[in-house]
Amino acid sequence: MQQIHMASNEVLVVVDMQPYFAASRKPSVIEANVNLVRRFRRMNRPIAIVEYYGGGDYLEDGDGDTHRPIMKELDGYSRFGVLWKNDDDGSSVVQDWLSEMKIIPSKFWVTGVNGCWCVASTAEGLELRYPDVVVRYVKKAINCSCSSGCEYQRRAA
Ligand SMILES: [Zn+2]
Repeated sequence: MQQIHMASNEVLVVVDMQPYFAASRKPSVIEANVNLVRRFRRMNRPIAIVEYYGGGDYLEDGDGDTHRPIMKELDGYSRFGVLWKNDDDGSSVVQDWLSEMKIIPSKFWVTGVNGCWCVASTAEGLELRYPDVVVRYVKKAINCSCSSGCEYQRRAA
């Protein structure tokens, strides 16, 4: 019983898949995130859509929203949240949302952009906040604008 319960609370954390960020526009990365969202939804798992609220103009008129194909997969779904952060690390807004939803996470799957920055910061933040919960990167659903090898690739699934 416990195993079934735990499995349903694997949380997908999609970080900054906003058109404003060039690295987010790679078609294969958008597609990988769409597929993950679809799969997590099918299993009724929580999905956190984390967005950078930088105070910049790009957020006006919805321009800062997460890529539409990803959001379309969430139409009519209740176990997801669009969470705004003001910093690279989105772990605090994820934690706030999960506790508000009374969800005890069993595992985190982190995707999005940029691999070296917001994705890594959020994953590390989650590790600190949930020391007993495994945090995994989904390599094909992550991209980065850095020119060297990303730190996240070391641990990517
Ligand atoms: Zn990088």
